[in-house]
Amino acid sequence: MPVQHPKSRPTPEAAKAKTAALMRWFEEHGRRHLPWRNERDPYRVLVSEIMLQQTQVERVIPFYNNWLRLFPSIKALARADEHQVLSAWKGLGYYRRARSLHQIAQTVVRELGGKLPQTRDGLLALKGIGDYTAGAVLAFAHNLPEPAVDTNVRRVISRLFGGMPVIPAKAGTQKQDVAACVSAMMRHAQPRELQSALMDFGSAVCTARTPACGTCPLNQLCHAYKSGGVGVINAVKKPKAKRVPRPMLALGVLREGKAVYLRRTGGLLSVKLEKSGGRDDVARQALKRLALEKHGVEIAVRPAATVIELDGKAVSLHRCSLLYGKVGDFQPASAARLKQLEPSEQSALAALGYL
Ligand code: SF4
Repeated sequence: MPVQHPKSRPTPEAAKAKTAALMRWFEEHGRRHLPWRNERDPYRVLVSEIMLQQTQVERVIPFYNNWLRLFPSIKALARADEHQVLSAWKGLGYYRRARSLHQIAQTVVRELGGKLPQTRDGLLALKGIGDYTAGAVLAFAHNLPEPAVDTNVRRVISRLFGGMPVIPAKAGTQKQDVAACVSAMMRHAQPRELQSALMDFGSAVCTARTPACGTCPLNQLCHAYKSGGVGVINAVKKPKAKRVPRPMLALGVLREGKAVYLRRTGGLLSVKLEKSGGRDDVARQALKRLALEKHGVEIAVRPAATVIELDGKAVSLHRCSLLYGKVGDFQPASAARLKQLEPSEQSALAALGYL
Protein backbone atom coordinates (compact mmCIF):
# COMPACT_ATOMS: atom_id res chain seq x y z
CA MET A 1 0.00 0.00 0.00
CA PRO A 2 1.47 3.43 -0.85
CA VAL A 3 2.43 5.77 1.99
CA GLN A 4 -0.21 8.43 2.64
CA HIS A 5 1.32 11.85 3.12
CA PRO A 6 -0.52 14.07 5.56
CA LYS A 7 0.53 17.65 6.24
CA SER A 8 4.00 17.57 7.77
CA ARG A 9 3.15 20.01 10.59
CA PRO A 10 1.76 17.90 13.42
CA THR A 11 -1.44 18.72 15.24
CA PRO A 12 -0.90 19.51 18.95
CA GLU A 13 -2.99 16.47 19.88
CA ALA A 14 -0.90 14.14 17.72
CA ALA A 15 2.33 15.55 19.12
CA LYS A 16 1.05 15.22 22.68
CA ALA A 17 -0.11 11.61 22.32
CA LYS A 18 3.09 10.45 20.59
CA THR A 19 5.23 12.24 23.17
CA ALA A 20 3.39 10.65 26.08
CA ALA A 21 3.80 7.14 24.62
CA LEU A 22 7.45 7.74 23.76
CA MET A 23 8.24 9.07 27.25
CA ARG A 24 6.56 6.06 28.87
CA TRP A 25 8.84 3.81 26.81
CA PHE A 26 11.87 5.93 27.69
CA GLU A 27 11.08 5.81 31.41
CA GLU A 28 11.50 2.06 31.31
CA HIS A 29 14.09 1.49 28.57
CA GLY A 30 16.19 4.68 28.28
CA ARG A 31 19.98 4.27 28.33
CA ARG A 32 20.49 5.91 31.71
CA HIS A 33 23.94 4.36 32.13
CA LEU A 34 25.59 6.57 29.52
CA PRO A 35 28.08 8.80 31.36
CA TRP A 36 27.01 11.93 29.49
CA ARG A 37 23.29 11.28 29.97
CA ASN A 38 22.75 13.57 32.96
CA GLU A 39 25.51 15.96 32.08
CA ARG A 40 24.68 19.66 32.35
CA ASP A 41 28.10 21.09 31.56
CA PRO A 42 27.95 22.33 27.93
CA TYR A 43 31.64 21.54 27.38
CA ARG A 44 31.15 17.93 28.44
CA VAL A 45 28.04 17.62 26.28
CA LEU A 46 30.02 18.99 23.36
CA VAL A 47 32.82 16.45 23.94
CA SER A 48 30.33 13.57 23.95
CA GLU A 49 28.56 14.77 20.83
CA ILE A 50 31.75 15.24 18.85
CA MET A 51 33.07 11.83 19.95
CA LEU A 52 29.77 10.20 18.98
CA GLN A 53 29.98 11.45 15.41
CA GLN A 54 30.57 8.35 13.24
CA THR A 55 31.43 6.26 16.31
CA GLN A 56 29.38 3.71 18.23
CA VAL A 57 28.10 4.65 21.66
CA GLU A 58 29.74 1.84 23.65
CA ARG A 59 33.09 2.49 21.99
CA VAL A 60 33.01 6.15 22.96
CA ILE A 61 32.45 5.59 26.71
CA PRO A 62 36.08 4.83 27.79
CA PHE A 63 37.46 7.61 25.56
CA TYR A 64 34.98 10.08 26.99
CA ASN A 65 35.86 9.20 30.59
CA ASN A 66 39.58 9.36 29.90
CA TRP A 67 39.27 12.66 28.03
CA LEU A 68 37.50 14.31 30.94
CA ARG A 69 40.11 12.99 33.36
CA LEU A 70 42.81 14.65 31.23
CA PHE A 71 40.85 17.77 30.22
CA PRO A 72 38.11 18.28 32.81
CA SER A 73 37.18 21.75 31.60
CA ILE A 74 37.21 23.77 28.42
CA LYS A 75 40.05 25.83 29.88
CA ALA A 76 42.13 22.70 30.54
CA LEU A 77 41.59 21.60 26.94
CA ALA A 78 42.49 25.04 25.58
CA ARG A 79 45.79 24.96 27.55
CA ALA A 80 46.79 21.49 26.28
CA ASP A 81 49.16 21.17 23.35
CA GLU A 82 48.14 19.41 20.16
CA HIS A 83 50.25 16.34 20.88
CA GLN A 84 48.43 15.72 24.20
CA VAL A 85 45.07 16.21 22.49
CA LEU A 86 45.81 13.82 19.65
CA SER A 87 47.26 11.23 22.06
CA ALA A 88 44.06 11.27 24.10
CA TRP A 89 42.08 10.76 20.90
CA LYS A 90 44.29 7.94 19.62
CA GLY A 91 42.17 4.91 18.73
CA LEU A 92 38.95 6.82 18.20
CA GLY A 93 39.70 7.74 14.57
CA TYR A 94 38.74 10.78 12.49
CA TYR A 95 41.35 12.95 14.19
CA ARG A 96 39.98 16.07 12.61
CA ARG A 97 37.33 15.98 15.35
CA ALA A 98 40.02 16.23 18.05
CA ARG A 99 41.68 19.17 16.35
CA SER A 100 38.33 20.83 15.89
CA LEU A 101 37.41 20.39 19.57
CA HIS A 102 40.78 21.80 20.59
CA GLN A 103 40.32 24.84 18.33
CA ILE A 104 36.80 25.43 19.64
CA ALA A 105 38.14 25.39 23.22
CA GLN A 106 40.92 27.85 22.35
CA THR A 107 38.49 30.20 20.59
CA VAL A 108 35.98 30.06 23.44
CA VAL A 109 38.66 30.76 26.07
CA ARG A 110 40.37 33.48 24.01
CA GLU A 111 37.28 35.28 22.72
CA LEU A 112 34.27 34.30 24.83
CA GLY A 113 35.57 34.25 28.39
CA GLY A 114 35.65 30.44 28.48
CA LYS A 115 31.88 29.97 28.08
CA LEU A 116 30.20 28.27 25.17
CA PRO A 117 27.39 30.41 23.70
CA GLN A 118 23.84 29.60 24.77
CA THR A 119 22.19 30.28 21.43
CA ARG A 120 22.10 28.25 18.21
CA ASP A 121 23.55 31.11 16.19
CA GLY A 122 26.30 31.66 18.74
CA LEU A 123 27.29 27.99 18.64
CA LEU A 124 27.07 27.81 14.86
CA ALA A 125 29.51 30.70 14.63
CA LEU A 126 32.18 28.39 16.08
CA LYS A 127 34.00 26.46 13.36
CA GLY A 128 33.39 22.74 13.86
CA ILE A 129 29.91 23.01 15.40
CA GLY A 130 27.07 22.15 13.04
CA ASP A 131 23.33 22.39 13.36
CA TYR A 132 22.86 19.01 15.03
CA THR A 133 25.63 19.56 17.60
CA ALA A 134 24.36 23.05 18.41
CA GLY A 135 20.87 21.66 19.08
CA ALA A 136 22.29 18.84 21.22
CA VAL A 137 24.31 21.23 23.41
CA LEU A 138 21.30 23.52 23.92
CA ALA A 139 18.85 20.72 24.63
CA PHE A 140 21.07 18.53 26.82
CA ALA A 141 23.04 21.14 28.73
CA HIS A 142 20.47 23.93 29.00
CA ASN A 143 17.21 22.01 28.55
CA LEU A 144 16.17 24.46 25.83
CA PRO A 145 13.53 23.40 23.27
CA GLU A 146 16.09 23.30 20.46
CA PRO A 147 15.81 20.17 18.30
CA ALA A 148 18.90 18.19 17.35
CA VAL A 149 18.06 16.35 14.14
CA ASP A 150 20.38 13.55 13.08
CA THR A 151 19.69 10.56 10.85
CA ASN A 152 18.06 8.55 13.66
CA VAL A 153 15.77 11.35 14.77
CA ARG A 154 14.84 12.11 11.17
CA ARG A 155 13.91 8.47 10.56
CA VAL A 156 11.80 8.11 13.71
CA ILE A 157 9.96 11.38 13.17
CA SER A 158 9.41 10.68 9.47
CA ARG A 159 7.81 7.36 10.29
CA LEU A 160 5.78 8.59 13.23
CA PHE A 161 4.37 11.70 11.58
CA GLY A 162 4.64 10.85 7.88
CA GLY A 163 4.99 13.27 5.04
CA MET A 164 8.79 13.43 5.08
CA PRO A 165 11.03 11.34 2.87
CA VAL A 166 13.85 9.51 4.62
CA ILE A 167 16.05 9.23 1.55
CA PRO A 168 19.21 11.03 2.72
CA ALA A 169 19.77 12.89 -0.54
CA LYS A 170 16.34 14.44 -0.31
CA ALA A 171 16.23 14.92 3.42
CA GLY A 172 17.99 18.30 3.61
CA THR A 173 15.01 20.29 2.44
CA GLN A 174 12.74 18.42 4.88
CA LYS A 175 14.85 19.05 7.95
CA GLN A 176 12.71 21.99 8.99
CA ASP A 177 9.62 19.81 8.99
CA VAL A 178 11.33 17.21 11.16
CA ALA A 179 12.58 19.95 13.50
CA ALA A 180 9.03 21.36 13.68
CA CYS A 181 7.72 17.96 14.82
CA VAL A 182 10.46 17.63 17.45
CA SER A 183 9.70 21.17 18.66
CA ALA A 184 6.02 20.29 18.93
CA MET A 185 6.91 17.22 21.00
CA MET A 186 9.21 19.28 23.21
CA ARG A 187 6.17 21.24 24.37
CA HIS A 188 4.96 18.12 26.15
CA ALA A 189 8.17 16.89 27.79
CA GLN A 190 11.47 18.20 29.11
CA PRO A 191 13.49 18.96 25.98
CA ARG A 192 16.57 17.09 27.19
CA GLU A 193 14.51 14.01 28.06
CA LEU A 194 12.59 14.11 24.79
CA GLN A 195 15.76 14.43 22.76
CA SER A 196 17.34 11.48 24.59
CA ALA A 197 14.16 9.44 24.20
CA LEU A 198 14.08 9.94 20.43
CA MET A 199 17.69 8.86 20.13
CA ASP A 200 17.31 5.77 22.30
CA PHE A 201 14.06 4.77 20.62
CA GLY A 202 15.65 5.11 17.18
CA SER A 203 18.56 2.96 18.27
CA ALA A 204 16.57 0.22 20.08
CA VAL A 205 13.09 -0.01 18.48
CA CYS A 206 12.60 2.11 15.38
CA THR A 207 15.86 1.00 13.78
CA ALA A 208 16.78 1.67 10.17
CA ARG A 209 16.53 -1.83 8.74
CA THR A 210 14.41 -3.91 11.11
CA PRO A 211 12.09 -1.71 13.16
CA ALA A 212 10.23 -3.73 15.81
CA CYS A 213 6.84 -2.50 14.64
CA GLY A 214 4.89 -5.52 15.91
CA THR A 215 5.85 -4.87 19.54
CA CYS A 216 6.40 -1.12 19.27
CA PRO A 217 4.41 0.73 21.93
CA LEU A 218 3.81 3.56 19.47
CA ASN A 219 2.52 1.48 16.59
CA GLN A 220 -1.10 2.57 16.95
CA LEU A 221 0.08 6.18 16.77
CA CYS A 222 2.58 5.65 13.96
CA HIS A 223 1.74 7.05 10.56
CA ALA A 224 4.03 4.68 8.62
CA TYR A 225 2.81 1.59 10.46
CA LYS A 226 -0.87 2.41 10.09
CA SER A 227 -0.54 3.18 6.41
CA GLY A 228 1.57 0.08 5.77
CA GLY A 229 4.44 2.28 4.78
CA VAL A 230 7.37 1.06 6.87
CA GLY A 231 8.27 -1.49 4.22
CA VAL A 232 7.97 1.15 1.52
CA ILE A 233 10.19 3.55 3.47
CA ASN A 234 12.77 0.82 3.99
CA ALA A 235 12.54 -0.27 0.39
CA VAL A 236 13.43 3.11 -1.09
CA LYS A 237 16.48 3.71 1.04
CA LYS A 238 19.24 2.32 -1.12
CA PRO A 239 19.60 2.55 -4.85
CA LYS A 240 20.93 -0.65 -6.41
CA ALA A 241 24.72 -0.71 -6.49
CA LYS A 242 26.21 -0.33 -9.95
CA ARG A 243 28.99 -2.63 -11.12
CA VAL A 244 32.24 -0.71 -11.15
CA PRO A 245 35.44 -1.72 -12.92
CA ARG A 246 38.45 -2.81 -10.86
CA PRO A 247 40.72 0.17 -10.34
CA MET A 248 44.25 0.02 -11.72
CA LEU A 249 45.40 3.14 -9.92
CA ALA A 250 44.48 4.89 -6.66
CA LEU A 251 44.73 8.62 -6.10
CA GLY A 252 44.72 10.09 -2.59
CA VAL A 253 43.63 13.67 -2.01
CA LEU A 254 44.96 15.07 1.27
CA ARG A 255 42.68 17.69 2.71
CA GLU A 256 42.34 19.69 5.92
CA GLY A 257 39.23 21.80 6.27
CA LYS A 258 38.67 23.37 2.88
CA ALA A 259 42.31 23.27 1.79
CA VAL A 260 43.61 20.63 -0.61
CA TYR A 261 47.28 19.81 0.05
CA LEU A 262 49.63 19.00 -2.81
CA ARG A 263 53.09 17.46 -2.65
CA ARG A 264 55.82 20.08 -2.65
CA THR A 265 56.92 18.72 -5.99
CA GLY A 266 53.30 18.98 -7.19
CA GLY A 267 50.48 16.52 -7.62
CA LEU A 268 48.40 14.08 -5.64
CA LEU A 269 49.35 10.84 -3.89
CA SER A 270 49.26 8.08 -6.46
CA VAL A 271 49.81 4.30 -6.29
CA LYS A 272 49.47 1.52 -8.87
CA LEU A 273 47.14 -1.38 -8.12
CA GLU A 274 47.79 -3.76 -10.98
CA LYS A 275 48.80 -6.71 -8.80
CA SER A 276 46.18 -6.26 -6.09
CA GLY A 277 43.13 -6.86 -8.26
CA GLY A 278 42.05 -3.32 -7.42
CA ARG A 279 41.20 -4.13 -3.79
CA ASP A 280 40.17 -1.14 -1.73
CA ASP A 281 42.02 -2.19 1.45
CA VAL A 282 45.24 -2.69 -0.53
CA ALA A 283 44.85 0.73 -2.15
CA ARG A 284 44.37 2.41 1.22
CA GLN A 285 47.36 0.67 2.80
CA ALA A 286 49.53 1.56 -0.20
CA LEU A 287 48.56 5.24 0.04
CA LYS A 288 49.30 5.26 3.78
CA ARG A 289 52.68 3.61 3.21
CA LEU A 290 53.57 6.09 0.50
CA ALA A 291 52.73 9.04 2.74
CA LEU A 292 54.73 7.63 5.65
CA GLU A 293 57.78 6.31 3.85
CA LYS A 294 58.18 9.01 1.25
CA HIS A 295 56.81 12.06 3.02
CA GLY A 296 57.06 11.22 6.75
CA VAL A 297 53.40 11.81 7.58
CA GLU A 298 50.74 9.47 8.91
CA ILE A 299 47.46 9.86 7.10
CA ALA A 300 43.97 8.41 7.33
CA VAL A 301 42.67 7.12 4.01
CA ARG A 302 38.95 6.68 3.51
CA PRO A 303 37.45 3.95 1.33
CA ALA A 304 37.23 4.90 -2.32
CA ALA A 305 34.71 7.71 -2.73
CA THR A 306 34.28 6.78 -6.37
CA VAL A 307 35.98 5.08 -9.28
CA ILE A 308 36.42 7.09 -12.45
CA GLU A 309 38.09 6.49 -15.78
CA LEU A 310 41.22 8.51 -16.49
CA ASP A 311 43.36 8.03 -19.59
CA GLY A 312 41.59 4.71 -20.23
CA LYS A 313 42.29 3.36 -16.72
CA ALA A 314 39.88 2.85 -13.84
CA VAL A 315 41.10 4.97 -10.92
CA SER A 316 39.81 4.90 -7.34
CA LEU A 317 39.70 8.25 -5.54
CA HIS A 318 40.33 8.42 -1.80
CA ARG A 319 39.84 11.30 0.59
CA CYS A 320 42.77 11.51 3.02
CA SER A 321 43.44 13.51 6.16
CA LEU A 322 46.58 14.15 8.17
CA LEU A 323 47.02 12.31 11.47
CA TYR A 324 50.60 12.90 12.61
CA GLY A 325 53.72 14.52 11.30
CA LYS A 326 54.75 17.77 9.78
CA VAL A 327 53.04 18.87 6.61
CA GLY A 328 56.31 20.30 5.25
CA ASP A 329 56.22 17.93 2.32
CA PHE A 330 52.70 19.05 1.51
CA GLN A 331 51.43 22.53 0.94
CA PRO A 332 47.89 23.88 0.80
CA ALA A 333 47.28 24.71 -2.84
CA SER A 334 45.72 27.87 -4.18
CA ALA A 335 42.91 27.56 -6.72
CA ALA A 336 45.35 28.74 -9.38
CA ARG A 337 47.84 26.00 -8.52
CA LEU A 338 45.16 23.33 -8.60
CA LYS A 339 44.29 24.42 -12.11
CA GLN A 340 47.90 23.88 -13.21
CA LEU A 341 47.78 20.17 -12.35
CA GLU A 342 47.69 17.44 -14.95
CA PRO A 343 44.23 17.18 -16.55
CA SER A 344 43.77 13.71 -15.00
CA GLU A 345 44.44 15.09 -11.51
CA GLN A 346 42.10 17.97 -12.15
CA SER A 347 39.42 15.50 -13.18
CA ALA A 348 39.98 13.58 -9.92
CA LEU A 349 39.61 16.76 -7.85
CA ALA A 350 36.50 17.72 -9.80
CA ALA A 351 34.98 14.26 -9.24
CA LEU A 352 35.43 14.73 -5.48
CA GLY A 353 33.93 18.21 -5.66
CA TYR A 354 37.21 20.00 -4.79
CA LEU A 355 37.46 22.01 -7.99
S1 SF4 B 1 5.57 1.27 14.53
FE1 SF4 B 1 7.50 0.76 13.54
S2 SF4 B 1 7.97 2.52 12.25
FE2 SF4 B 1 6.39 3.15 13.70
S3 SF4 B 1 7.53 4.08 15.40
FE3 SF4 B 1 7.17 1.94 15.92
S4 SF4 B 1 9.02 0.89 15.21
FE4 SF4 B 1 8.99 2.90 14.21
